Amino acid sequence: MIPVEKALKTILANFQPLGLEKINILEALGRVIGENILAPRNIPSANNSAMDGYAVRYTDTKGATKNKPLRLKIIEDIPAGKVALKKIKKGEASRIMTGAVIPEGADSVIRQEDTLKNGRTVVIYTSAKKGENIRFAGEDVRKGELVIKKGSFLHSADIGMLAALGKAFISVYQKPRVAIISTGDELVDIEIAPPPGKIVNSNSYSLAALVMECGAIPIMLGISKDKRTDLQEKFKTALHADLILSSGGVSVGDFDFVKNIMGEIGNAMHFWQVAMRPGKPLAFGTIEGIPLFGLPGNPVSVMVSFEQFVRPSLLKMQGHTKIFRQNIKAICNEEIQKKAGFKHFIRAVVRKEKNKYIATTTGNQGSGILKSMVAANGLIVMGENQTQIKKGEWVTVQLLDDSLSWSESLQI
Ligand code: AMP
Ligand code: MG
Repeated sequence: MIPVEKALKTILANFQPLGLEKINILEALGRVIGENILAPRNIPSANNSAMDGYAVRYTDTKGATKNKPLRLKIIEDIPAGKVALKKIKKGEASRIMTGAVIPEGADSVIRQEDTLKNGRTVVIYTSAKKGENIRFAGEDVRKGELVIKKGSFLHSADIGMLAALGKAFISVYQKPRVAIISTGDELVDIEIAPPPGKIVNSNSYSLAALVMECGAIPIMLGISKDKRTDLQEKFKTALHADLILSSGGVSVGDFDFVKNIMGEIGNAMHFWQVAMRPGKPLAFGTIEGIPLFGLPGNPVSVMVSFEQFVRPSLLKMQGHTKIFRQNIKAICNEEIQKKAGFKHFIRAVVRKEKNKYIATTTGNQGSGILKSMVAANGLIVMGENQTQIKKGEWVTVQLLDDSLSWSESLQI
């Protein structure tokens, strides 16, 4: 049995980023970008109007008010997309639409609401400040600026930015293909009402969901019987994947064959059993060179083990620069006790209260109690040697929901 930190280190040393592929930006949402994006040009490319109104020289509008308006001569109409032909001189203005390039000579725009058009003259009811209602060239993005950093997930705003920069194709990291095998004679498929003694194979589904959440591709290989030959057959099918996940069959029972197969010629087992709860019976190794996580069978253990070890591996394989969930400090709302020797991950719900996080456990912590995982948005982490948390004490919580970590200015 090895500590969690050692297991993680061993695991991560076995993974490197996969290759890159060039794709259209419409396919790039949720992918990890494989290149730094430097702006090839300014956005906006030229000074343009932020309002519908009149492009003027601000000095020509000095002193204009509702009661003492001024008049300027309209010399041109500039719709969006057209370039002005005339330069603004003293006493002149051009009608301008939002987005149109500011004509030469003008240095501000008066909003249409502060004017009245009268033939080829415009009555100005307010004085302009220099630069008012102008969007300046490069105000959003400067040419040469680093706009999107390599190694992060692409969100919708990134896709819009790439389009604005004229980048129709970009390099992203390949998605890992992850074969998923559930082991157990007690398992039946989802469409079958389980007869006495049988249970539905839910682990394949939670694992597939976790894999997709990491941006990878699940390959569902179904259920293997607790028979060495059956399991060998399944592993053979899985060899075209980048990673294999199995659940169950990795404890000390008579039919727990996963680790035995890892011990066969051509395969390897790097370690078995981690000092954590839930999730102690974890084996990590390779099958004919393909990395394999032999995850525990209990529905919560399998998910918590995935969170600790598989998730960072999948993110590393995708070249992501931030591979760990965010840890925060929260006030524990209740007393928790445990024995020394294992690191514990306790299902909890974290909420914000007066600029602090408050953590409350979600009930029964049995490794088969999936409901308390459903209710959780975080895991309270208790160190190996820690035996008690008092009510009101600060605790470390590993967030399972990234959106929580974005909440503004929390005291942590
Ligand atoms: P095992 O480690 O194979 O002994 O599995 C431990 C327990 O986890 C079993 O007794 C089942 O109750 C449960 N279990 C194993 N595999 C699955 C699965 N695929 N889906 C849901 N529960 C499972
Ligand atoms: Mg089993």
